Amino acid sequence: MGLKIYNSLSRQLEEFSPLTDGHVSMYSCGPTVYDYIHIGNARTALITDIIRRYLEYRGYAVKLVQNLTDIDDKIIARAKTLGISSGQLAQTNGKAYFEDTQRLGIQPADVHPKATEHIPEMIELIQMLIDKGAAYVIDGSVYYRVNSFNEYGKLSRRKPEDLLAGARVEVDERKEDPRDFDMWKAAKPGEPSWDSPWGPGRPGWHIECSSMAMKHLGETIDIHAGGEDLLFPHHENEIAQSELATGKPFAKYWVHVAFLKIDGRRMGKSEENFIFLREALDRYPAEVIRHFLISAHYRHPLDYSLESLQKSESALKRLNNCIESLQKYHEEIPDAAEIDNATPFNVSETNMNLLSAIDTMQSRFTAAMDADFNSAQAVGSIFSLVSQVNKAIGSSNGVLPNTFASAYRKLTEICQVLGIYTINEDNTDTTTENFDALIELLLEIRQGARDQKDWDTSDKIRDRLKQLNIEIKDTHEGSTWKFIT
Ligand SMILES: [Zn+2]
Repeated sequence: MGLKIYNSLSRQLEEFSPLTDGHVSMYSCGPTVYDYIHIGNARTALITDIIRRYLEYRGYAVKLVQNLTDIDDKIIARAKTLGISSGQLAQTNGKAYFEDTQRLGIQPADVHPKATEHIPEMIELIQMLIDKGAAYVIDGSVYYRVNSFNEYGKLSRRKPEDLLAGARVEVDERKEDPRDFDMWKAAKPGEPSWDSPWGPGRPGWHIECSSMAMKHLGETIDIHAGGEDLLFPHHENEIAQSELATGKPFAKYWVHVAFLKIDGRRMGKSEENFIFLREALDRYPAEVIRHFLISAHYRHPLDYSLESLQKSESALKRLNNCIESLQKYHEEIPDAAEIDNATPFNVSETNMNLLSAIDTMQSRFTAAMDADFNSAQAVGSIFSLVSQVNKAIGSSNGVLPNTFASAYRKLTEICQVLGIYTINEDNTDTTTENFDALIELLLEIRQGARDQKDWDTSDKIRDRLKQLNIEIKDTHEGSTWKFIT
């Protein structure tokens, strides 16, 4: 049994088979950085992270690209309200996005392209579409001619009359067809703009993703992910632009993450019922929020409530207690040989049951994740093993230390795929890194003082650090430091 993915394009579960054996190219639509992200947005980012981690666990080399939309109507409008430039606003919120997602344990993508740094590529793609007769220019704006792409609507499966109804919201008399959308927007006074063959302006949102995805991943990508609200028109338009330009399929598998709900309604900025991810992270550990966000399959809606978070918190406590109680066995037998190589004949039944529970957990986990990344069932498999371990620990019926050590290793390995137990991960926590850099900075300043024979400053830094239990040693090669234990 191999991995199956529900492809929104075919509306079917499909056997996963990447374009290149052993490699997966993946594009995920990233944030429009006009504000902090809320935990509804975080669900999509987290699912992308889990899919990537699982593909890596399955042995694939994954290249993940996630864009930042750093120029957009919302950014311009909000920057105006705040009295700052849209560039400043995008930079601040872009930085906040990485801080928040990193706190949630989301690993950075391999490339995070910014729209404003890919304007030449977008202009090139728009020009190609004009040359092919798929776009037209009016007053410095360029529109995509939906009629030129026969397969328009194949992702959303909307009929032309539905598409027209949707498009009526923004009537633009200049368009040939109300369904046509802008790829280049002529600059309005006071707005940031870039030069183009059609005059100063800025790119439309859809062309950004088409050109950044193709630049960093090629003309056809394996997996294109995003929130379900992006399916139409954003992804439909990405397909229309990219496929008409290249004549090739744009993405093999389309993955759409369902909404997070609160009080039965979709959590969203426009609904004004959202909770910023950073607020949630101030109240709950990252693993608890991760556990909550993956406690439903990604295609099912998930309801945010205090009760759900509390449930996740107590589940995580059980998991952590279990792992902690196993840790000593792992420390005693860190490289334990596989248990069946060293099993004496008289092992207890409890021991045998635990051994089989470890195997079952691993196979159930893989089966769940192979079934379109069913994280809810995958978490269930972990907790079944937790119950078995707790039973075995409470039992007087001897369990071999090797077996407990093996349970520890399997549990931590699998939990790290989901990121709900991250104690051994070093790339999700920048605190230690920042701390080290800070001490290095102090040592540099102290060395500067020593070079100028400013012994007072040099001694002051050494003594004050000593009060903080940090000892400095001066050697011929320079100064080193360590914690005094
Ligand atoms: Zn996109």
